[in-house]
Amino acid sequence: MSLKNIVLQGIPASPGVILGRAKVLRGREGYQVSPRLLYTEEEVAQELQRFRRAVDQTAEELNSHLKDLPPELKEHSHILETHLIILRDPMLFQETQRLIREQQLNSERALYQAYHKVKELFQNIKDPYIKARIQDVDEVYRRLLGHLTGNYRSRTLSFTEPVIIIAKDLSPNETTQMSGSPVLGFVTERGGRTSHTAIIAQSLEIPAVVGLDNATLEIASGDPIIVDGLTGRIILNPDGATQKKYQARQEEFETFRAEVAQGSSLPAVTTDGHANRVYANIELPEEVSLALKYGADGIGLYRTEFLYLRLRHLPKEEELFEDYKQVVEAMAPREVTIRTLDIGGDKFLSHLQYPAEMNPALGLRAIRFCLKEQNIFRTQLKAILRASAYGKTRVIFPLISSVREIREARRLLESVKADLKSQGVAFNESLPVGAMIEVPAAVTLASLLAQEVDFFSIGTNDLIQYALAIDRGNKQVADMYQPLHPAVLRMIRDVVQAGRAARISVAMCGEMAGDPLYLPVLLGLGVEGLSMNATAIPVVKRVIRMISLEEAREIARQALRKNTVEEINDSVIKDMERRFPEIFRFGRHLATL
Ligand code: PEP
Ligand code: MG
Repeated sequence: MSLKNIVLQGIPASPGVILGRAKVLRGREGYQVSPRLLYTEEEVAQELQRFRRAVDQTAEELNSHLKDLPPELKEHSHILETHLIILRDPMLFQETQRLIREQQLNSERALYQAYHKVKELFQNIKDPYIKARIQDVDEVYRRLLGHLTGNYRSRTLSFTEPVIIIAKDLSPNETTQMSGSPVLGFVTERGGRTSHTAIIAQSLEIPAVVGLDNATLEIASGDPIIVDGLTGRIILNPDGATQKKYQARQEEFETFRAEVAQGSSLPAVTTDGHANRVYANIELPEEVSLALKYGADGIGLYRTEFLYLRLRHLPKEEELFEDYKQVVEAMAPREVTIRTLDIGGDKFLSHLQYPAEMNPALGLRAIRFCLKEQNIFRTQLKAILRASAYGKTRVIFPLISSVREIREARRLLESVKADLKSQGVAFNESLPVGAMIEVPAAVTLASLLAQEVDFFSIGTNDLIQYALAIDRGNKQVADMYQPLHPAVLRMIRDVVQAGRAARISVAMCGEMAGDPLYLPVLLGLGVEGLSMNATAIPVVKRVIRMISLEEAREIARQALRKNTVEEINDSVIKDMERRFPEIFRFGRHLATL
């Protein structure tokens, strides 16, 4: 008799709970790549031709998948478009051909070497989101190799019975095939929270757990399993009582999800009538549709570095302008806050050679970089100003630590305005200018900075890092990264007060703003706008609609009276559990994916 209730722990990738039978997929285990030397020029020419044919076949295949994308997944078409771009990227396309020509290698081996060079480059990237994009290169590599070796197997996922898919990993194309088929959920060995499979599963509202080592070995086809996409837990061979418990959990969650979704387009007004604005943070124009879907009142933070990182050259004014215009127009009449380039720290441009820094988080980052590289900065400011003619636009400067930086940045902005004016180019002359408050010095100087700008946005991701001296990406000290730390709460309070005194608005755009647990405290401290990952918006709006500003103020007052983060956490968690039991159980998972 097989063991009951075996618990396996993976990474929660898409919320929901499902009970069903497992279907283990095999067949993407990789290909053998053996080197073969080419001896004659004719062989080299043939090999080049063979490689280009495989590239064409892969492109054809990707284009046909693009065409067949189901309507509910159209917003993710950029994944396949990215694969088409990677396919012709010089680091793969040219490099493989160079290796065929110069080292007389067969296509498979040349491609293998080119791919591993790219992989090495990705290994040195710190930003986890960008680092995870190696999966796109991986996918293209597998497809290409499959066409070269002639044994490319794109698994067709069509099932007659409802199943839970268990696989080493799934390609974006395979995941998209799940739409409309009786696939109940999936579990993969590879992948993280930002993997494409996770993103697509969220769109399809299918529970998913990723990063579960040995899933394909521990689970067999036909096994009854429970997938809890909220906690990342898998229960193998559940007994009757466990099944019942999870069925109840599934029903409760589905009711909660439906209610939350219904309210996403409603305004975020507290029970005593105070209106709040809930915005989305985005990194790419493609995310605008998601922001709108989840009911964003605008874009509170457009992190613009991703276009710079995506391209292999410094983007031209026209490229930037088109990108910003697209976002501004798509969000109209809502507001879009564009942050100027925040490069350095953990994001570097490979096409700009800069000396390595011992301590990049304290180095030439964000506004400091832009004030040094004024041509790059001016080009971006020009593009932002031009986009401001197409909808409500604001600009915000990151990592401000002094009045001088604001003045210098504003001086450049004015000089760019003068250029545009003399060229007769349209832009909003009174484009609002903001400062991100994410360095302790900016908190101390908030009342002075407030006289120099039109608005503040508190970037808690960095503010917590710099205030508590905790590297935001360092797992060793992750448990010390405490948003409710008394020092952090006092900083937020002081910035809000300085903003109020100068009659400028104070919003927040760090991750803290999107966690429902912290919301009452933030409202109580007087933060007026909250900007977050789009998926968090419906839950956050719901919490706002269920609490009064008076209650929130009391929660904040209580928190400020406590001396330790443990006491504050304890009282805030207890309070949240009491007030919003279902949000506490499910909402945080929905919001903080
Ligand atoms: C922040 O620091 O809180 C912030 C929103 O900016 P980023 O996460 O892009 O540094
Ligand atoms: Mg920041």
